[in-house]
Amino acid sequence: MSPTLAEVTTVLEVIDGGTAYLEKRGVADARLNMQRLVGHFLGYTRVQLYLEFDRPLTEEQLAPIREALKRRGQGVPLQHVVGEVEFMRRDFLCDGRALIPRPETEELVTLILQEKETLAEPTRVLDVGTGSGVIGLSLALELPAMGELVLADVSPDALSLARENATALEVEATFLESHLFSAVDGTFDLIVANLPYVPENDRDSLEPELAHDPDLALFSGPDGLDLLKAFIAEAGEYLNPGGLLALEIGHEQAEAVSQLLLHFSFTDIDIRSDLSGVSRFPFARRL
Ligand code: GLN
Repeated sequence: MSPTLAEVTTVLEVIDGGTAYLEKRGVADARLNMQRLVGHFLGYTRVQLYLEFDRPLTEEQLAPIREALKRRGQGVPLQHVVGEVEFMRRDFLCDGRALIPRPETEELVTLILQEKETLAEPTRVLDVGTGSGVIGLSLALELPAMGELVLADVSPDALSLARENATALEVEATFLESHLFSAVDGTFDLIVANLPYVPENDRDSLEPELAHDPDLALFSGPDGLDLLKAFIAEAGEYLNPGGLLALEIGHEQAEAVSQLLLHFSFTDIDIRSDLSGVSRFPFARRL
């Protein structure tokens, strides 16, 4: 069945009609989804949507909204439907070439920025498994004295998306097609990575929307630790003395990752919690 927007004309009616349509299809946060969707296609902010609630819409304005609504109702993630995602209050292009950035990852960036006084300047930053580039590019825009930014990923698709985001945000970066550190040269003051950490063993119990993220961006061996292990074993070689390593990991991985960091002689090991209280962000330094 296609969305029933035929007889509705105003902004508010479209939002109401679309919300009911999405609710019927079990989409969580249906109204918020619908506001984002309508806002995107009309080029309105949320405030404008509210102020212009009784503005009538033309068929030309309705057609793409109707199409997008249908895809959202079929379970396509909102970020893919609108082709972008907000991360640290900026818009990034987002599609099936890389992982959809998650809200926890904004917490990782915020925690790193709280350490900015402790970072050498100009700060050389390496983002391993950069995906859409959100972490590295956000840091480049927020750190007070950025040195070189290197964005590495094993996936050429992800790198092409990261490159488009860098261009759109006017950030200069070096792009490396690299399995972890395989193509990385030199040393850095900050190495950040949100590597795939989902256990293969959990594959059958995952939310259906994860099917829209590339497998390569999600899974990492039976317990999800394969890439983290290989990464931590090598990371010290690419970090300047005093440099910061900052990671995102899955729930139930904190103990194993602390042990790995200890084993590979990192100091100041501190696993920070996310807003839901999960030990999520290992921070560590090189002596
Ligand atoms: N670094 C990217 C992000 O945090 C991609 C992560 C990944 O593909 N696992 O969104």
